[in-house]
Amino acid sequence: MSARVLAGPPTAEALLRDAAQRAGRLPAVPHLAIVRVGEDPASVSYVRGKARKAGEVGLRSTVHVLPETASQAELLALIAALNTDDDVNGLLVQLPLPAHIAEAAVLHAIDPRKDVDGFHPLNVGELWAGRPSLTPCTPAGILFLLRHHAIPLSGTRAVIVGRSSLVGRPLAALLLEADATVTVAHSRTRDLGSVTRAADLLVVAVGQPGLITPDMVKPGATVIDVGINRVVDAQGKGHLVGDVHPDVAGVAGALTPVPGGVGPLTVAQLLANTVHAAELQAAGHLQSGTSSGDRGEFVR
Ligand code: NAD
Repeated sequence: MSARVLAGPPTAEALLRDAAQRAGRLPAVPHLAIVRVGEDPASVSYVRGKARKAGEVGLRSTVHVLPETASQAELLALIAALNTDDDVNGLLVQLPLPAHIAEAAVLHAIDPRKDVDGFHPLNVGELWAGRPSLTPCTPAGILFLLRHHAIPLSGTRAVIVGRSSLVGRPLAALLLEADATVTVAHSRTRDLGSVTRAADLLVVAVGQPGLITPDMVKPGATVIDVGINRVVDAQGKGHLVGDVHPDVAGVAGALTPVPGGVGPLTVAQLLANTVHAAELQAAGHLQSGTSSGDRGEFVR
């Protein structure tokens, strides 16, 4: 038996088509502002990829770069300016930030209506209260992938390995909303295999190549491999691999590849979130237009 491959690129295209259609119903082309601090090569590459994809699907984007030495106050001033700029619908600050800048202060400062990464505490709280709005891109992209491939969620046992704020925690909230029975495992979980073997849906977001071996997977389970690990083979050639051992394909019912699985969904979801942010703001403006005509409420 070999698992059905849940390919990311065509699924991401479907998500982008849907986002582009929704964008077409808005009064203006949605605009994503991306802030980068410093020249970390991975951040430079991620930001370039996000801006390029935005252009490909017909959204506007601008990239604002501050030097590595920029102060927290300078970054907060830029965020404040972008928050009040009505021409900007979505705003994200590329992480990680230089060590002298407090990440929490920066994430708090972003207008929750423009928070396309879904990291503002208001959006995190709304997600856990069962009212998801702007939600973190990787977990939201995974939900889209599961629904797109008609993977049943309601009543199923879902196990997430990894409890980061970026992936594991928000995904747990989204799967609860989808009526799955959710377990979150992490670095202190005892006998990880006994936990993962119970899963109809197993999502792995750890960052350890080959962590999940075939004996840890229930036959026929859906396995979502979020991990992205750079490894060098015996010939000295670099490769990207996930957290799931390739032999799991012989046990699982469906499996996402690495690369070409969850990765493309993350960027597509960012652009879908930008459209959603623009929709929220358009609704807010309509509401405020009946009263004082100012910026309106955070409408969900
Ligand atoms: P993180 O380092 O913030 O969190 C890792 C989690 O794994 C922690 O919660 C930790 O408790 C858990 N963990 C560590 N060792 C473990 C073990 N032996 N058994 C069980 N749990 C263990 O990482 P992250 O930001 O959540 O990213 C996880 C992986 O997903 C990385 O490889 C990252 O590159 C990748 N990632 C991919 C995408 C994408 O778009 N495909 C997006 C985000 C992250």
